[in-house]
Amino acid sequence: MTVAAVIVAGGSGLRAGGERPKQYQVIGGKPVIWWTLKAFLDHPGVTHVQAVIGDGHEEMFAESTTGLAIPPPVTGGGSRQDSCRIGIEALEGHAPDKVLIHDAARPFVSFDLISHVIAWLDRFPAVIPGMPVTETVKYAPGGMIDRTVDRASLWTAQTPQGFGYGDILAAHRAAQASAAANLTDDASVAERAGIALAMVPGRIENRKLTTAEDIAQADRLMTTRSFAELSDIRMGQGIDIHSFEPGESVTLLGVRIPFHQRLKGHSDADAAMHALTDAIFGAIGEGDIGVHFPPSDAQWKGAASRIFLEKAVSLLHAKGGVLANADITILAEAPKIAPHIPAMKAVLAPLLRLSPDRIAVKATTTEKLGAIGRGEGIMAFATVTVRLP
Ligand code: MG
Repeated sequence: MTVAAVIVAGGSGLRAGGERPKQYQVIGGKPVIWWTLKAFLDHPGVTHVQAVIGDGHEEMFAESTTGLAIPPPVTGGGSRQDSCRIGIEALEGHAPDKVLIHDAARPFVSFDLISHVIAWLDRFPAVIPGMPVTETVKYAPGGMIDRTVDRASLWTAQTPQGFGYGDILAAHRAAQASAAANLTDDASVAERAGIALAMVPGRIENRKLTTAEDIAQADRLMTTRSFAELSDIRMGQGIDIHSFEPGESVTLLGVRIPFHQRLKGHSDADAAMHALTDAIFGAIGEGDIGVHFPPSDAQWKGAASRIFLEKAVSLLHAKGGVLANADITILAEAPKIAPHIPAMKAVLAPLLRLSPDRIAVKATTTEKLGAIGRGEGIMAFATVTVRLP
């Protein structure tokens, strides 16, 4: 029996807030979707994994799935229902016997739940995991209680939902042909087609991440889990200084700040990003920027410093490690740094694979003392903690 998985990641996830859709926000050092895809890619019972992404999310998907052996995603449609159909249709060439359809925003799906759904598909044409409703349920249109609903047979539906491949493909096409829209899960599509669906026990931790609070809680949980396996704790520090020359802007932590001078240097002279990069190289005992990107090498002239940072982070990941936090202090008399700190954290969060609350950017003047106080340049300090296996 061949079993494929469709991972639905088409949503814009706006309810969770943040700079990017929830499936691309970071929990436990990796994007939500990375954890979800990994669960299916690592499962020996799943032969093919097909992701469905939102229009314009190609780059976010690519950078969120580095290191995963994942086939190219397909672009979904205007609703979850359309996206699912497109994902299922994309598997036609593989013609799997069964398909599991799963929300990208459920990163806590366990090996054991995937195994159970596959096993139940031997006995039922379709299998929906869910949780029995344990709280008293009220029907309250407009906020006023009309009546209490008998909860005895009520369940909330989770994913992965398992189907015969041909069955669910036909059901989706029939729903599309009859313009049945806004079916919020694949079980609803299958119900319409008269497919017999078995309700089986899901897992309480297999929640769908929806709100900003869900993301924060998931980060704590996933971080605790992954840190437990990464018991080698290292710190690294980095310092950098660049002097001013006439110009129009300075770049600090990837953010361009208009100013009547610029920082002098071989690359874009982003002193703060250099300090941060050196802190990471330092924590993993890998020298410094000068070793990896010699100033004598003309190819780094004018380079965006994110290249250096990406190299340090990828070396850390290659060792099986993750960052735990980064703390950066910028010393400058001018320009004013504080208004740009949120933008700087937004640049760093995806590069470092850290949630923004694990990144600190601070700025201070030196009370007109010394070279920095005389406005001759900008200096930056960075400290990081990394966790290694
Ligand atoms: Mg430098």
